[in-house]
Amino acid sequence: MRAMVLGAQRTPLRAAEVADPEPAAGQVLLRVRACAVCRTDLHIVDGDLARPKLPLVPGHQIVGEVVGGGERFEPGTRVGVPWLGWTCGECRFCVAGQENLCDRARFTGYDLDGGYADLAVADERYCFSIPTDYPDEQAAPLLCAGLIGYRSLRLAGDAERIGLYGFGASAHIVCQVAVAQGRAVFGGTRAGDAETQEFARSLGATWAGDALAGPPVELDAVIVFAPVGELVPPALRHVRKGGSVVCAGIHMSDIPAFPYDWLWGERMIRSVTNLTRADGEEFLAHARASPVRVEVETFPLEEANVALARLRSGALRGAAVLVCDATSER
Ligand SMILES: [Zn+2]
Ligand SMILES: [Zn+2]
Repeated sequence: MRAMVLGAQRTPLRAAEVADPEPAAGQVLLRVRACAVCRTDLHIVDGDLARPKLPLVPGHQIVGEVVGGGERFEPGTRVGVPWLGWTCGECRFCVAGQENLCDRARFTGYDLDGGYADLAVADERYCFSIPTDYPDEQAAPLLCAGLIGYRSLRLAGDAERIGLYGFGASAHIVCQVAVAQGRAVFGGTRAGDAETQEFARSLGATWAGDALAGPPVELDAVIVFAPVGELVPPALRHVRKGGSVVCAGIHMSDIPAFPYDWLWGERMIRSVTNLTRADGEEFLAHARASPVRVEVETFPLEEANVALARLRSGALRGAAVLVCDATSER
């Protein structure tokens, strides 16, 4: 099969012909139809996350068609594969229903080969059914940008006025969910990024502007999607007493020191780590009902490096998705 392979961190992916993966017991073999590009993929390629399997096929927002293997899905079924690829089921976190924190978890496109390829295998217990009304390329970003964004929103509590700082793939989905729930959304972008600010307003944001300066009103919570620790202290200043700042990414640059007074008033800073399968089921039901509009820029599989470069430079609007058309190639 064709695959885009990471041989070593801080080097571009290379297009390669590799052996087809074979499903082990309990795994499905999928023909990949689309795989969305996540900022986490960029952190893996750029070396911010230290211990990927190498060589690695990245990609953890896979929409694929079941070709064989497993017992849960009929051949031909369209399923989604998320970041959480396997958990032990035995550690204190798994037992407590916090499989997102599993000590021995394995992650798709990090510990396990992912979806930047024609074919992929996945443990069927961690796959999701995909809402039928979403085309492949729009369904793919739901699997991490949407899902982890949704978990972040849940962890922001019942905030009525919520800031989304870093208005990319995840925020553009979360914005719509939050607006549908009757919340007011405040979209924070880089200073002067009028295009993204307009994009945020077009999705229902009440306000959009420079995240460092913040909106003209006090917020109940801020979710920081940008991997920029520099945003955390100002975000704290933008939330009311008892409000929270939720850091949604897997990696962030260092958070600068700030006066304790900014945290005082029972303000909270917390991270969001991975997902549970329950998060996925809940979010996908929500997306189906809303419905959430997913804005994508598609790239052929071979152009994965171009998609990553566009994400790195902040040039994307919505989510980047690799579209695999294996049938026409083979
Ligand atoms: Zn565990
Ligand atoms: Zn992701």
